[in-house]
Amino acid sequence: AKQNGKNRFARFTSGNTQKITELYNILQRLPDGIANCEFSMNYQPIIHARTGKLVAIEALIRWHNKDLGWIPPDKFIHIAEAHGKITQVQYCMLNCVCQDLQEIKLKLPQTDCPIRTAINLSGSQIADIEHLNQYLSTLENQGLSPTEITLEITENMLVGDAKEIVEYLNELIHRGYAIALDDFGTGYSSLSYLARIPISTVKLDKSFIDPIENNKAQMSLVSGVLQLAHSLGLKVVAEGVEHASQRNLLIDMGCDYIQGYLIAKPMAPEELIKWISLQNE
Ligand code: C2E
Ligand code: CA
Ligand code: CA
Ligand code: CA
Repeated sequence: AKQNGKNRFARFTSGNTQKITELYNILQRLPDGIANCEFSMNYQPIIHARTGKLVAIEALIRWHNKDLGWIPPDKFIHIAEAHGKITQVQYCMLNCVCQDLQEIKLKLPQTDCPIRTAINLSGSQIADIEHLNQYLSTLENQGLSPTEITLEITENMLVGDAKEIVEYLNELIHRGYAIALDDFGTGYSSLSYLARIPISTVKLDKSFIDPIENNKAQMSLVSGVLQLAHSLGLKVVAEGVEHASQRNLLIDMGCDYIQGYLIAKPMAPEELIKWISLQNE
């Protein structure tokens, strides 16, 4: 038993050391990453569940560093957030999105272009309304219209003055933005939440979608969320749909939109343009 305990400890420390090294490496390269704008964006289609028609794309950040290689957002976004670098990362991201959308619009007929592009906001952006306003001004000054943007937020971002945030979100909707509640079904999501904050769309997290095929209770849960969301006038996106059987179930349950590897993985702008062109051939 003692031996066993020792092994477990060894595994624990080596895992931790690896994490600390990773954190150190990322923290050390982040300022250069920002200065040289080593970030780029991939775009994942969101389609209308029944017709299969492209309705939106989600912009997902990518970071390539010459020493570290590709670093996934799950590894660096929270570090950037914790160390006061997220605003700069978000501005790099915005620049990329503006350029990419210009190119996409140039190369595709207007009728083939996605209606909206979803961008992921960070917690600290929502917490500081003045900064967020400045960020959105930058977006609009670069030629993007609020009516072509969806802002994805998560509920754990909505801490602080709830009343003030709700008022501000209402103003954004009035200006033409769509607001999506991301990762619904993770964390402390409660159904009553959906009625309280002004959003147009709910995104059901992959962990919510994964078990629907094999689990009757889970199916009822998803079906219940869909009904409630619809009764509140919200649209629902199912995230992380990987199998046709999941898509078929979701269509039967009345899910509005689908996003996932079954449809397409996140793609570089040129790939996305090709993908859209092929769909419409
Ligand atoms: P998210 O917003 O929930 O984005 C969805 C994630 O699920 C993406 O991972 C996407 O590639 C992945 N995904 C989509 N369909 C499938 C599927 O069928 N199967 C599987 N296994 N995965 C699927 P990604 O691109 O690695 O992004 C991870 C997270 O990083 C995002 O989760 C988001 O929270 C954050 N993130 C990404 N880009 C940005 C950004 O520009 N700004 C901020 N603040 N956060 C970002
Ligand atoms: Ca998202
Ligand atoms: Ca999500
Ligand atoms: Ca997520």
